[in-house]
Amino acid sequence: MNEPIKKRTEVENPMSFLAIKERIAALLYTYLQQSKKGDSKVLNQEHPERIAEELQLKNLFQNGFQNIQNITDFIQGYLKHTNHLSNSRYMGHQVAVPQDLSGIPDWIHGTINNPSSLYEMGPVGATLEGFMINWMLSKLNWFKGEDLYDFSTHAHNGSGLLTHGGSIANLTALSAARAAIAPAAWTEGNPSDLVVMGPATAHYSIGRALSIMGMGKNAFIPVPVDANEVILTEYLEPVLKQVKIEKKRVMAVVANACATSTGLFDPLDKMADFCEKHGLWFHIDGAHGAVALLSEKEKDKVKGIERADSLIWDAHKMLQVPALCTALLFRNQEHQWNNFRQKGSYVFHENEVIGMDSMPFTVECTKSALGTKLFWSFALKGEDAMNKFIEDSFQKAHELYNYLNTLEDFYCPYRPESNILCFQFRPEQLSDQQQLALRYELINSGAFYITSCEFQGKRFLRTVLMNPNTTMQDFIDLAKAISKIGSRLI
Ligand SMILES: *Cc1c(COP(=O)(O)O)cnc(C)c1O
Repeated sequence: MNEPIKKRTEVENPMSFLAIKERIAALLYTYLQQSKKGDSKVLNQEHPERIAEELQLKNLFQNGFQNIQNITDFIQGYLKHTNHLSNSRYMGHQVAVPQDLSGIPDWIHGTINNPSSLYEMGPVGATLEGFMINWMLSKLNWFKGEDLYDFSTHAHNGSGLLTHGGSIANLTALSAARAAIAPAAWTEGNPSDLVVMGPATAHYSIGRALSIMGMGKNAFIPVPVDANEVILTEYLEPVLKQVKIEKKRVMAVVANACATSTGLFDPLDKMADFCEKHGLWFHIDGAHGAVALLSEKEKDKVKGIERADSLIWDAHKMLQVPALCTALLFRNQEHQWNNFRQKGSYVFHENEVIGMDSMPFTVECTKSALGTKLFWSFALKGEDAMNKFIEDSFQKAHELYNYLNTLEDFYCPYRPESNILCFQFRPEQLSDQQQLALRYELINSGAFYITSCEFQGKRFLRTVLMNPNTTMQDFIDLAKAISKIGSRLI
C-alpha cells in the first residue's frame, strides 16, 4: 500500500510515444489477423470479476503504468476479452465491423481533442461534418448549394448534424416535430393533446423519447402491422380518425426504415402520401436502412425517403464507422433552427452557420469529431466500394435465407430486405425458452455470435450480416452448429 511511487521515466519520456504507438499497432494488427483467421472464439465471455482481476485494475488505477511493458500487457489482456467483430462468424448486433484502419480518427481525436460542436473549437472536424452533411443532404435532394464545399445557407435548403447515436437523434427529431406543431411547448411545457403515430414495432428509443419529453409513452399510438410487423398503411386513416375523435393532434408519423428486429421496410412512399394529405410531420427512422438510398439496386426499398421532414441515419451501423456517429437530417432547415429555441419563432436566422456550429441544435454541448470518422470511412475505400459493401451485405442475407430454406429444420418467416434475417430451428419442437437456450449455448461455445429477437410474439434467432468476409461456408457451419445444439435440446 505505502510503497514509494516508482519513477515512471519510460512512460513519461516523450520518445516513448513512438515506441508505444508502434507496439500498440503491432498488437492490433495481430488481433485483426487472428480474428480474421478465426483463430480465437468470436466472443470469450468471462465474469467481470475475473476480467478485473486479470487486468489488475486496482493496481493500475492506483499506481499507474510503470513502463511500456505494463501498457502492452494491459492491452494484450484487454484484447483477450473482446467480441471479435472481424471474425466472419460474427453475425450479431447492428454495429459496424470497422475497416482495418477505421480507428485512426479516434486516435487522432484522442490526441488533439477538438470537439466539433463549435467551429472555433475544432475547425477541421466541423468542416468534415459540414461536408458529410452536405453529401447526405445531396443524396436526398435536400442540398441546394452548387457544390459540396458550399457551407452557406440557401433558401429551401435542408440541414443536418451529426450526433452521438440514433436514440439521441430520434429524440432530437421528435423535439423538432413538437417545436413545429407547438412552439410554446419549449417554455410552457407540453399541450396534453399531442400524439405520435407509427408501427408498434418502432424502435424503443421513440417511446423513450416521448417519455423524456414529458409526453408519456402512451402518446405513441400504434398503427396495426402485418404478419411481418410492417405497418399496414390502410389503417393510417382510421387511426387518424380515432385520434381526431379523441380531440388529439398528431405531432409526427414515424416509419421504420428498416425495423430493427426484422430488417423490413415500411412503405415510405404511401406513408408520405398520407402525411402530405393531412399536413403531418413525417419522421423516418432510417438508423439501419437509410443506406439503401446509396444503391441503385436497393434504393426502391426506401422510395419516398426524400419526402420525410426528418430522417435519422446511423453511420456506425451500415457505413462501417466505429460507434458512435449518427446523422439527423431535416428537409426544411428552419425546423432545425427552431428546435431548441427559447422562443419558438419561425424567423430566418441570418447569422446561423448550419453544419458549422452544430451546438445550438444538438442535445450534446461538447461532442466528438464525428464528421472525421464518417469521412474517413469513405476515404478508406471510396464511395463506389462503400455502395458495393452495402449491396453485398444485403445480398448475404438472401444467400442465408435461400440456404436455410433448403433445410427442413429451419423456418424463415419472410424474405429479407436488408442484411438482417430472423429464423427458428424446428419451431414445432423447440419452445421460445429453448430457442433462447440454443442461442446462449451457441455464443458461449465461441463458435458464432448471433442475436435473438421477439417476432410475431415468438422467440427467433437473428443474424445481422455486418462482416464483409462472411461466406456461404460460414452459413453451412452455422446451420450445422445450430442443428447439433438444437437436436440435443429437444
Ligand atoms: C439501432 C436503431 C436505433 C438506435 O440507434 P442507436 O444508435 O443504437 O442509439 C433506432 N432505430 C432503429 C430502427 C435502429 O435500428
